[in-house]
Amino acid sequence: MHTDDGQPSQASPCYTLSFKRLGELFLLLEDDGFQIIGPTLQDRAIRYERLKSPDYLVHGYVDHQKAGCYHLEKQGDLYFGYTVPQDSWRRHLQPPKETLWNVKRSPSGFDFEENSDDLQTKRVFFGVRPCELRAIEIQDQIFLKGNYVDPHYHHRRDGLFLVVVHCIRATSTCFCTSMGVQPFCSNQEDQKSHARPDLALTEIEGQFFLVRPGTHRGAQYLNRLELEEANPEDLEIETRLSQVVQRDLKRNLNLNQDHLKEIMDLQMESPYWNEVAQRCLSCANCTLVCPTCFCSTTEDLVSLDENTTERIRKWDSCFHLSHSYIHGGSVRSSVSARYRQWITHKLVTWKEQFNTEGCVGCGRCITWCPVGIDIRSEANRLRSQWRGES
Ligand code: SF4
Ligand code: SF4
Repeated sequence: MHTDDGQPSQASPCYTLSFKRLGELFLLLEDDGFQIIGPTLQDRAIRYERLKSPDYLVHGYVDHQKAGCYHLEKQGDLYFGYTVPQDSWRRHLQPPKETLWNVKRSPSGFDFEENSDDLQTKRVFFGVRPCELRAIEIQDQIFLKGNYVDPHYHHRRDGLFLVVVHCIRATSTCFCTSMGVQPFCSNQEDQKSHARPDLALTEIEGQFFLVRPGTHRGAQYLNRLELEEANPEDLEIETRLSQVVQRDLKRNLNLNQDHLKEIMDLQMESPYWNEVAQRCLSCANCTLVCPTCFCSTTEDLVSLDENTTERIRKWDSCFHLSHSYIHGGSVRSSVSARYRQWITHKLVTWKEQFNTEGCVGCGRCITWCPVGIDIRSEANRLRSQWRGES
């Protein structure tokens, strides 16, 4: 069943998992000390929060997303009828704000204490979409595989149990296939290069899940549940679902064919950047919802009596003026320079820096931009301008 590298073969067995048995899976994982995080309804949006049982999963909602607009509608009977939630898993691997260490003055000098709150907690990410799985892989590249390993990220990532749920519908902001991601993991062109889920689920018409193991660990949990193998009719339904979502996805940004790197290089001084800056508020929303963004800044908070200091790490954004501050001033002082930095990094220079794409096509930056700036349209406009089409 498994290949030499510990991964299941392409022909992984497929089982059926009813919603009742899903509760048993949750219990097995909790008994083994895992905390389960998954999609739940909060403030009229779907967010990833701790789930005490499958009863807390979102149920019977679809999402409608377009530039600058997010709307949930009560419809149907699916648990995973929506696409991507408002926030991403990044919040649980690299929190928006965390204390790194404290120093307290003591009679002998200073006591140093590293903050290890929540670092030992074993987590399950339940309901990871394929584009989000790729985003976690990209963050791994940055935090774990470069010259410097981030110990906080490493602790949270180590032992993480990943349960992917395939996408059976797409919304107008989804463009994962443009970025080389497939809505079904089993359809990835080069499986070896991607992070493996422990389990991969497909929801079948709101009735049950098809489930396949992606790792030995995942297979062991399925063995403990003693599930029945899926029948050929269910597999046929799954194939049809995957064809429908493929059809709905529009491949509307093709980086290689259109030589975006050359276009960006040649368009550095284009008047286009000033035009987009007229619309961009420099609010940083697009970077805060992005699952691949990773910039942070640190701050030392000293108590008024000067006896304690706390070092805080917080998310930062290339849209902030202070992000490019070098002695004496900011390198990117205009909104046009900051927008240019963001889009060229996401679509071009990230690849040179990390040898991965910087964008997974989840579309969150499009939905949550208050003025509806769409990364796909902007790249396409730059391309048209370069070609002299406008
Ligand atoms: S592109 Fe949109 S979300 Fe991003 S900084 Fe500009 S206005 Fe804000
Ligand atoms: S740049 Fe936009 S579409 Fe790409 S991964 Fe980030 S939020 Fe998603």
